[in-house]
Amino acid sequence: MRHADVIVVGAGPAGIAAATAAARHGRSVLLLDDNPAAGGQIWRGGIEAPAQRANRGENARRNKALRNLASSGAVLLAGYRVFDAPAPHTLSALRETSTDAEAVALQYDHLILATGARERFLPFPGWTLPGVFGAGGLQALVKGGFPVQGKRVAVAGSGPLLLAVAAHLREYGAHVVCVVEQATTSQLVLFAASLWSRPAKVLQGIGYRAALGKAPYRTGCWPVAAFGDEASGLLKSVRFTDGAETWDEPCDMLACGFHLVPNTELASLLGCKLRGDFVAVDEQQQTSVANVYCAGEPTGIAGLDAALVQGEIAGLACAGQKTGPLRARNAAEQRFAARLEIAFRLRPELRLLPSPETIVCRCEDVTYGDLASRAGWTDAKLQTRCGMGPCQGRICGPATQTLFGWTPKSIRPPLFPVPVNALCFHDSQHDVPKENA
Ligand SMILES: Cc1cc2nc3c(=O)[nH]c(=O)nc-3n(C[C@H](O)[C@H](O)[C@H](O)COP(=O)(O)OP(=O)(O)OC[C@H]3O[C@@H](n4cnc5c(N)ncnc54)[C@H](O)[C@@H]3O)c2cc1C
Repeated sequence: MRHADVIVVGAGPAGIAAATAAARHGRSVLLLDDNPAAGGQIWRGGIEAPAQRANRGENARRNKALRNLASSGAVLLAGYRVFDAPAPHTLSALRETSTDAEAVALQYDHLILATGARERFLPFPGWTLPGVFGAGGLQALVKGGFPVQGKRVAVAGSGPLLLAVAAHLREYGAHVVCVVEQATTSQLVLFAASLWSRPAKVLQGIGYRAALGKAPYRTGCWPVAAFGDEASGLLKSVRFTDGAETWDEPCDMLACGFHLVPNTELASLLGCKLRGDFVAVDEQQQTSVANVYCAGEPTGIAGLDAALVQGEIAGLACAGQKTGPLRARNAAEQRFAARLEIAFRLRPELRLLPSPETIVCRCEDVTYGDLASRAGWTDAKLQTRCGMGPCQGRICGPATQTLFGWTPKSIRPPLFPVPVNALCFHDSQHDVPKENA
């Protein structure tokens, strides 16, 4: 059992800012992340691109944040994943390697949830072929050393992440054949116009577009099918449409994601109220549960600047410090988040992409045809095992929400699959009667 005044779950930009702020004001802080190092999605470390670093400024920001964290006194527990909150003010976390697993119980006075977001995947025929990746997923693999040099990559789906990923892949030597965004040109023009007071964001977008060279950026278009080579089974082309015409784009890889989905499972398990899909917080980032705070993407998809300012507010609030001056900045970030949501709203045609044979739940091989006649998420789970595999509905849940309007319910521990001995440890720590184990 370890105790800290403040425990922060998630060491992305929000968690780093939160842990640094709380530790600098004298609180003992434990910062946990399931990755081997701090950084989260955007500041994930890895292999430097062989070409020029287009984002040198971003690297400097990341390095400064990591230096501040290291000197703050906060203790980083890297590689630990929180899978349960078995008692008030208590979390269970697991560190797993290929050879062993270690479970720990953690106690806090204040908790900050900074669990980030993940990509939304929408099923279409061929989306499970080898060669089809999540857009951010492929970016993460490439940072880890996965080679894309000379590969023809189509980037598709929705959201600002597409341009960032495409520019990034190009830096690593990929030949980006196209970037295909489902939002319309007029939606994006309105979005860009609304950013007149945020020139840095506009410049960032222009920089990514410039980094793409001649690769076309098509708006109002989306993927309808991916095709594999008959002999190898590997992806060979993707069919796109603008709703009127279709065309096939030969490629070796498709990087595809439809904006982001907040990771709210731990917050839900703790009983925090949601507002729509997001964790509801007040001006201090305090959730509906006493002493539990939330910062970054679980409270709204708003990007790096929002994650940093919200993290700092949460850390300061836990340390009993004033947060006033930061709140105006946060309010501006919230306005940006609202504009993002409108600009990249998913078009209804995306609900019609799957055929009856298209797999929706990849863990349990459940097809669209299996699900179409079900009354809702619970019925689908009971009758087809949809959402009951290792990802625990993290992929098919948001997909069925888009396809059928279902709202996945019933968050239960463990939040992630864990070895049985971790559950035994966990029960022995908290005196759970055997019959409930
Ligand atoms: C795949 C992906 C790639 C992205 N790439 C870019 C990019 O290139 N450029 C860009 O501008 N924006 C990118 N974004 C958006 C970016 O993540 C946000 O703008 C912002 O940086 C989010 O910061 P955060 O701290 O809220 O979350 P994150 O950076 O997502 O950090 C959350 C951290 O919490 C950890 N975590 C979650 N649950 C648990 C748990 N139960 N136990 C332990 N740890 C946990 C996660 O593994 C993660 O490290 C990306 C998003 C995603 C999903």
